[in-house]
Amino acid sequence: MRIRQKRLAFGLAAGVMLSLSACAVNPATGGRMFSLVSEGQEIEMGQQAMLQVDASMGLYDNPELQAYVDSVGQAMAAVSERPDLPWSFKVVDDPVINAFALPGGPVYLARGIMAHFNSEAEMASVLGHEIGHITARHSVEQISRAQLMQIGLVASVVLVPELRPFGDALGGGLSMLFLKFGRDDESQSDQLGFRYMTRLGYDPQGAVDMFEILERQRDTSGNTVPEWQSTHPDPGNRVLAAEQRIASSQIEGGIVRDDEYLRRIDGMMFGKDPAQGFFVEGRFVHPDLRLQFRFPEGWATQNAPTAVLAQSPERDAVMQLTLAEGSTPEDAATEFFSQQGIERLGARSRTVNGLPAVQGTFRVETQDGALDGQVLFVRHAELVFRFMGYTPSSRMGTYAVTFERSLESFAPMNEERWIGLEPRRLDIVRVPAEMTAERFFMRFPSTVTLETVRVINGWEAGHVIPEGTLVKRVVGEGVPGDE
Ligand SMILES: [Zn+2]
Repeated sequence: MRIRQKRLAFGLAAGVMLSLSACAVNPATGGRMFSLVSEGQEIEMGQQAMLQVDASMGLYDNPELQAYVDSVGQAMAAVSERPDLPWSFKVVDDPVINAFALPGGPVYLARGIMAHFNSEAEMASVLGHEIGHITARHSVEQISRAQLMQIGLVASVVLVPELRPFGDALGGGLSMLFLKFGRDDESQSDQLGFRYMTRLGYDPQGAVDMFEILERQRDTSGNTVPEWQSTHPDPGNRVLAAEQRIASSQIEGGIVRDDEYLRRIDGMMFGKDPAQGFFVEGRFVHPDLRLQFRFPEGWATQNAPTAVLAQSPERDAVMQLTLAEGSTPEDAATEFFSQQGIERLGARSRTVNGLPAVQGTFRVETQDGALDGQVLFVRHAELVFRFMGYTPSSRMGTYAVTFERSLESFAPMNEERWIGLEPRRLDIVRVPAEMTAERFFMRFPSTVTLETVRVINGWEAGHVIPEGTLVKRVVGEGVPGDE
């Protein structure tokens, strides 16, 4: 959870106006496409969502790195079919392997995917792919489809953004990130990305290497699903398709810029940032906010930019911690219960582990039936937090005690061992002599596993590192249990 701003306004649904300009010509492909969204609306929608992404996900704090990524992206966009869009290329402060595009120009790389590139050409392959989603207007088509489905549907769940289902709790414009493109769109973006990177003279082998890294990440990732894979369904044989494109284009070699790229990311944060809070020993602790609480045992948890979330194993109950409006628990409670669609069943002032609080119960009618919830507004560290749990009304009997126990676990946290942990960082090393990965790992230790070192460097089993090569290792203690 990142405390840089108050809760975000709701953007997408309100920002999009319907106007029927049905069959347009796709700028990148020349084909006909179905669209309810004009170019002006496309740009407007993307710029609004961009402000929300910047504010809620947060940009990685390194102006030189941001300028570098933007300059590479701008050069690629300039050779695309839509050079005049308001293009922007930014690195978000997110450890996951992900990249995404918003309509009409904004493109984002997560610092997690930046840590996996080993050359500018590899980065260019992903930037080109995302540019392709924009030039081919994929998200516009998706949104048009989504609008068609939503016309006439007004659920109270939508009126009460706090109660949207788990997974969509990131809020407003961020839901646009979770538009899923189809395999055809993915293949088309790969194709367009290839076009843009080769127009600038990049070695298209960078795309093959990148797809191989993504494949491998799929194989080695344990229980977490990297974002790129959840938002980017595998078009199937991506590596093979990229190799075939290279073969038929007869392009050989080109710009790689490996050392230059690695120098740029030397010192970049790697993995989770302890300052944003983490789960440890069955609790969530936030060292900057000096708070802690427990979610029910066995629930799936997520530390998202604007909320900390948990879902029951049966997926029929959700708990979440967010910042609340107002400067006192009473104000925050009044604000919450005054929302349309929320029925206040009861509320009282109390203290929780010495902190001033208001606890209440509520009911919300949705098109899928009524939800019942418990909510706690609690003041701590000069902020007011809203901690709540909700479930279908028929299940409240099952969860009431569970919710209550979690709400009462909210407490100050002053344990020295969880305060001031340093994040992990990439350290770029020039190997003094030819050596194996194992030998490198011994001579230049990392605070992640050898397998992770292999993956981020793109080394196959048995790889021998040539003398004088720049390679990545990882230093710093990081978040406990983050691999
Ligand atoms: Zn894609």
